[in-house]
Amino acid sequence: MIEPNYDVVVVGSGAGGAMAAYTLTRAGKKVLMLEAGRDYDPVKETPMFNTAREAPLLGRGTPDKPFGFFDATVDGGWEVPGEPYTTGKDSEFRWWRARMLGGRTNHWGRYSLRFSEHDFKGYSRDGFGADWPFEYAELAPWYDRTEALVGVCGTNTGLDDMPDSAPGVLQPPPKPRVPELLVAAAARKLGIPSAPMHRAILTRPIDNRAACFYATSCKRGCSIGAAFQTTTSLLPMARATGNLETITDAMVRSVDVDDQGTVTAVTYIDKKSGNSVSLPARAVVLAASACESARVLLNSKSSQFPDGLANSSGQVGRNIMDSTGAGLSAYIPALRGRPVYNEDGHTANHLFIPWWGHEAQANGELDFARGYHFEMGTGFRDPGTWSPPSLDGYGPDMKRQAKQDYGARVGLALRGEMVPNENSYMEIDENVQDKWGIPVVKFHWKWSEQELNQVAHGLRTAKDILTTMGASIPSLPSPEEAIRKGGEVIHEVGSTRMGASPEDSVTNQYGQTWDCNNLFVMDGGVFASNPHKNCTLTIMTLAMRNASWLAGQLDKGAI
Ligand SMILES: Cc1cc2nc3c(=O)[nH]c(=O)nc-3n(C[C@H](O)[C@H](O)[C@H](O)COP(=O)(O)OP(=O)(O)OC[C@H]3O[C@@H](n4cnc5c(N)ncnc54)[C@H](O)[C@@H]3O)c2cc1C
Ligand code: SF4
Repeated sequence: MIEPNYDVVVVGSGAGGAMAAYTLTRAGKKVLMLEAGRDYDPVKETPMFNTAREAPLLGRGTPDKPFGFFDATVDGGWEVPGEPYTTGKDSEFRWWRARMLGGRTNHWGRYSLRFSEHDFKGYSRDGFGADWPFEYAELAPWYDRTEALVGVCGTNTGLDDMPDSAPGVLQPPPKPRVPELLVAAAARKLGIPSAPMHRAILTRPIDNRAACFYATSCKRGCSIGAAFQTTTSLLPMARATGNLETITDAMVRSVDVDDQGTVTAVTYIDKKSGNSVSLPARAVVLAASACESARVLLNSKSSQFPDGLANSSGQVGRNIMDSTGAGLSAYIPALRGRPVYNEDGHTANHLFIPWWGHEAQANGELDFARGYHFEMGTGFRDPGTWSPPSLDGYGPDMKRQAKQDYGARVGLALRGEMVPNENSYMEIDENVQDKWGIPVVKFHWKWSEQELNQVAHGLRTAKDILTTMGASIPSLPSPEEAIRKGGEVIHEVGSTRMGASPEDSVTNQYGQTWDCNNLFVMDGGVFASNPHKNCTLTIMTLAMRNASWLAGQLDKGAI
């Protein structure tokens, strides 16, 4: 096999892969990136200013564009043509994938909250799941560097659920909207705090990325680079070093080893020709997203690793966690008929409700171990084609009602921590292959009492907040009815978890697999737990820290 003329092969160009490539190329390493999706340029392709009237069906979601016509996702969504996955008996799991340069960062919500020491040591506290193999203090400076590079707006609050960033790291947040202030006031009466949401949105320019000027929804992507996506930031910055080469339409099938079990090559399908290509590799970083990376490992069988690569612990594919999701919304009488003005802001919530229950949990007052937060859905928004079910009648009367109710609905979306359980995992379905001939993933899923009790608490709390605001909510759904399906919150992590021992984890604290020292995982697969805070900031922070460590190991000749 020919000698590689690059130091590291990185698989995937989303949050983890692009941060790994950025960090390695800046450290002088030559990187070859393999991306299964097509090339994508948000500067040319983002429909920043198009209105719903310009879209088919006024922009409504369709099977191939489930989040609406203008959503940035290319060749993906809940289904990827020709790339199925299966689910086990009695399991429901939904898997959102994007097949494009930049992956899901082109349209993610950009909510970017740090994990805390409390989050990293859940097992030591309550005996559920696993601890992370390091302390928060170890990661804090890397969070600072990531937040400054990516551009995160928000404020330090001093709340125990929200560790502070170093001074000057966060950009100023946009001011709260009127309905958000009303939610905050109602929550305060109940002893519940609220705070500016931290989002990877620039409110001040950085280099050639402009500040947000409140255009259309960030899910479309952001051609001015204000909303963080790797295609307008990390990837061009890595390319500018002269050390990054990218091959798109390259669907990695396996990572290959020699007789000693050392990684020597990556095999991918060139989607344009259909040919299988084997490339030599000195070191490999898998960052294809948590379940895709686990799939590559499980499909990389050899005589040394008959159960899949890096799987001597048997933990590859186990411990998958999503965030819990549930929501409650209501019309608020005080907001009805208020004068209409533009309160778009950066389109997502400017305030949110962080978890306030650590003390109650420590005192044994709650029947679930881990916390949640509420994201607020408020404000005058692009009305789109949706009409509220409360509308009655027709003609001028109906228009009056619609105007009266416009901007008066307030929603609270719960996002909570899931405890890993033995019924929630993925494996390879040996009976089904995708159109490239690669065996697909089979998901198994079950929420436990932990999540159902947490959602029940969240629904009661949301009701308390909304009724304190004057809403009328006659009844609540059961938690079983209210909880979103596994995978639907799109925070699936944990499938190649890191730990302190090769017995019960797949990688060490640097994402280096215990079984192969030149194979790393740098996506959410390495999460040892899945705190309620949206996962991507921590994926990027770990990728930055761990790629720096990898660069150091290459410098020392240890790899
Ligand atoms: C609508 C939406 C809203 C979200 N909102 C938030 C939020 O507010 N906050 C938050 O923290 N997270 C959010 N997320 C989740 C966030 O997008 C993901 O956590 C993040 O993108 C994961 O990064 P990643 O690098 O692991 O994977 P991805 O971003 O999915 O990138 C993986 C890349 O690898 C490529 N790939 C996959 N398989 C292969 C293969 N075999 N060979 C080569 N390449 C491959 C894919 O094509 C893709 O480009 C949201 C996601 C969605 C869809
Ligand atoms: S709201 Fe701001 S950050 Fe989001 S896409 Fe529009 S300009 Fe970009």
